[in-house]
Amino acid sequence: MSFRTLPRLTTASTSPIRLYRAACMRLSALRNQLQPLGRIWSIRTMATTTSNLPQTMKGVIIEKTGGTEVLQYRTDLPLPTPKDGEVLVKNEVIGINYIDTYFRTGLYPAPSFPYILGREAAGTLLTTSPALPSLSPGDKVVYMGTSAYAEYTAVPPTHVLKLPPSISPATGAAAILQGLTALTLIRDAHPVQRGDWVLVHAAAGGVGLWLCQLLAAVGAHTVATASSSEKLELARAAGAEVLVNYAGPEGQDAVVRKVKEVTGGKGVVAVFDGVGKATFDASLEALARKGSMVSFGNASGAVPPVTIARLSAKNIKLLRPTLFNYIATRDEAEHYAQELWAFIEQNKLDVRIHETYPLQEVARAHQDIEGRKTTGKLLLKP
Ligand code: NDP
Repeated sequence: MSFRTLPRLTTASTSPIRLYRAACMRLSALRNQLQPLGRIWSIRTMATTTSNLPQTMKGVIIEKTGGTEVLQYRTDLPLPTPKDGEVLVKNEVIGINYIDTYFRTGLYPAPSFPYILGREAAGTLLTTSPALPSLSPGDKVVYMGTSAYAEYTAVPPTHVLKLPPSISPATGAAAILQGLTALTLIRDAHPVQRGDWVLVHAAAGGVGLWLCQLLAAVGAHTVATASSSEKLELARAAGAEVLVNYAGPEGQDAVVRKVKEVTGGKGVVAVFDGVGKATFDASLEALARKGSMVSFGNASGAVPPVTIARLSAKNIKLLRPTLFNYIATRDEAEHYAQELWAFIEQNKLDVRIHETYPLQEVARAHQDIEGRKTTGKLLLKP
């Protein structure tokens, strides 16, 4: 490609996201042409960026599983060394996800101890990787990986994404994991169509508010559940049409009754259930014939083993998806991330941040999310 054939930025590309994409393409084409020079530049920049790094860093480790008392805030952790194409990121904002509590309690096994929790953060890229030719040291990035509860993290390249100029690190860290979870659930787990009736549990939580907003954006009708009227009002503001308090005297029966009422007895075409054990049975009951039971989490405990014959009553599809199997390749991750940024910008989505906790107060943050005291996203500041 010659300079003349580089993709051009045209005045027709009015959307900032389109302009950003066009600029990225142009930059990456330019970088390919200047590769030999670029390599020297990258190495120099990396050397400058990493030469001033400290020997130790702040972070949170667990040495065993248990309650929030096992979370140890430390200021003397060794800096991680990137290997196998990994890059080093200086974290500015770290996202908390319910899954962090599963690793802390042992519901999901940590690979080894000591273990640094945390699966997403945003910050500054410090090193290069051959797998990320379009990223340079100094770029603002958001990533999904492991060991994010720290000042620095070595991250495999697949899920390191450049932040568009319009998305701040705080918004990026608040959006990426829960937003992509919601997006892949409604696109891939059960492709939701305009006019569909769906049920979303824990609708004022992190993933829940994303689901409500994205479902409204694609024209679906959402029945939302939560444990208080304040939480239900947030779900309504995010686009849910019908609200049910599943912590009231009627419990889960209220959910089934309301769903049947608003769907003329048919039921919903999909249930997005991150609550797990407490809601599973009612979710199956609320489904329409040939509906999708999308069970994607265990906030109330893991769903006990299910007899598959139960599904035949309505020819139900049962799915137990994880985000990372929908974005296993870099192409998939970039595709969905671009769609998420576009949704945030074009649909003016509200990236609701519950609280940004200092890293040393991580135990309070875990107590708050497990105690059902939070709505939207919890962040940590290292
Ligand atoms: P949330 O912010 O949604 O917090 C969990 C919410 O679950 C609470 O606020 C609470 O809302 C509800 N809840 C219901 N019963 C309980 C209970 N017994 N104890 C605690 N909370 C309960 O967390 P996230 O958005 O981070 O995650 C939501 C779910 O999605 C989790 O199960 C998580 O594991 C899952 N997830 C799965 C992913 C995947 O790839 N499969 C990826 C990301 C998240 P209320 O008070 O209204 O009931």
